[in-house]
Amino acid sequence: MVLDNLGSSLRGSLDKLQGKSRLDKDDVQEIVKEIQRSLLSADVDVSLVMDLSDSIKTRALEEDPPAGTSARDHVLKIVYEELVGLIGDSTEIPLEPQTIMLAGLQGSGKTTTAAKMAWWFSKKGLRPAVIQTDTFRPGAYDQAKQMCERAEVDFYGDPDADDPVQIAEEGLEATEDADVHIVDTAGRHALEADLIDEIEEIESVVQPDLNLLVLDAAIGQGAKEQAQEFDGSIGIGGVVITKLDGTAKGGGALTAVNETDSSIAFLGTGETVQDIERFEPNGFISRLLG
Ligand code: GDP
Repeated sequence: MVLDNLGSSLRGSLDKLQGKSRLDKDDVQEIVKEIQRSLLSADVDVSLVMDLSDSIKTRALEEDPPAGTSARDHVLKIVYEELVGLIGDSTEIPLEPQTIMLAGLQGSGKTTTAAKMAWWFSKKGLRPAVIQTDTFRPGAYDQAKQMCERAEVDFYGDPDADDPVQIAEEGLEATEDADVHIVDTAGRHALEADLIDEIEEIESVVQPDLNLLVLDAAIGQGAKEQAQEFDGSIGIGGVVITKLDGTAKGGGALTAVNETDSSIAFLGTGETVQDIERFEPNGFISRLLG
């Protein structure tokens, strides 16, 4: 079956269906309860969990399992399909020249992600460059420069400048030999008006093909407001979830996916430049339900 590593109580409820060819209301109720428990503890938003539960219940009771499919496999397939419907496939990232801008709050992992994505593109045979416009966070320049050196990719930043828009302009010029431009932006501790103004100005100069919202896997309720603010100002075309090597499962990011009507592009799984993966629904769903 597509899902492995299911949590033990969900697996237990599913195993009780072994040998059954049809599901009754109690079976469905028990399974849905286990799924709700898993998703809520993975930080998935309550209203998303409720919508999902309703769809799973309805389908599990109304749809007959195809011939030869057990009730267990049938309900598992429904759960999987409904979750894929919510989460979607990974954001399309064409392997061609393009400009990608990263948005998010301070500490979400933008700078790290910029270098990781550059490494990823370089492994795909492209020539990426990172442009560091974060003049707000002390150390952002050095961190980005060092990571880009490690990733062996082009880098532009100016530790003495304080105008991110000018850095972006100069950075695009200075890295014109590169074909993929990844523009890192400054965050703030919270969503402040000047953050949004600044990123809008950078966006108008950079004119990215794609804006990605970078979210820490531990984000919970905060994902909604961030997604709305950034989507309303620059338009978000995909989400990056960082720090998935920790205990957080990243379910809060689904709120952002839902709010921005986008999808997940990349996952961050560590602190070094190689710790990046393209999003892939199976593994992520298994993790959410695990
Ligand atoms: P920014 O303020 O959004 O640019 O965030 P940074 O890129 O500086 O990341 C903040 C902290 O999180 C740094 O200490 C990073 O090393 C760390 N970090 C970023 N991504 C990951 C990840 O995927 N896993 C882990 N364990 N740490 C990460």
